[in-house]
Amino acid sequence: MGRALAGLRLPREVREVRRRGKYIVFALDRGFLVFHLRMTGQLLLGDAPADGARLALRVDGGWLSFVDRRRLATVAYSPELDLELGPEPLGDLSWLPGALGRSKRPIKAWLLDQKNIAGIGNIYAAEILFSAGIDPRRPANSLTPDEVERLGVAIREVLTEAIAYRGTTFSDYRDPAGNPGGFQGLLRVYQRAGEPCPRCGTAIERIELGGRGTYFCPRCQR
Ligand SMILES: [Zn+2]
Repeated sequence: MGRALAGLRLPREVREVRRRGKYIVFALDRGFLVFHLRMTGQLLLGDAPADGARLALRVDGGWLSFVDRRRLATVAYSPELDLELGPEPLGDLSWLPGALGRSKRPIKAWLLDQKNIAGIGNIYAAEILFSAGIDPRRPANSLTPDEVERLGVAIREVLTEAIAYRGTTFSDYRDPAGNPGGFQGLLRVYQRAGEPCPRCGTAIERIELGGRGTYFCPRCQR
């Protein structure tokens, strides 16, 4: 972390906090503090620095602690914000048909590539493709206009619902108040191998695709 934060001289004023893809960006009076929580990181607000915090920031109303017991999360200071990310998934998606048409990669791998579209991880890719009724192995450029339309709708619906439920917690994810998310109870295929598909009753399958566990209904997703 010392190297990641090289060049940061405190105190600094936080002007704005925003999200870009999976990154949480603190825009400072000069430069940016960029967090990626990955599987296990937490940003917790409290009256004092949290036990084991890797970084604690004095903020209005207390302390914001960066906690990560498995050290998978990252924080870095950067004078410029140069994240190489594709467009946001909740913005305009009129570019989607053209971009998919230029790729032969499996549609799930395409969705996970942050340079194509920013912010979709393994859980939500599985849920989006189930919602759209698309087999995760299909080449991106094989999707029909109707399927691309369904995919765009599913991206918006799944992510909007997950945000409304404050995310998905399997183990470590917490919101800044320390509360787990609520979307894990609404997952329809992710980590449900062998369980009946909520739409047709067929057993959910798990395969490896691009090195990631991939869950889908072999009947509903074509
Ligand atoms: Zn099904």
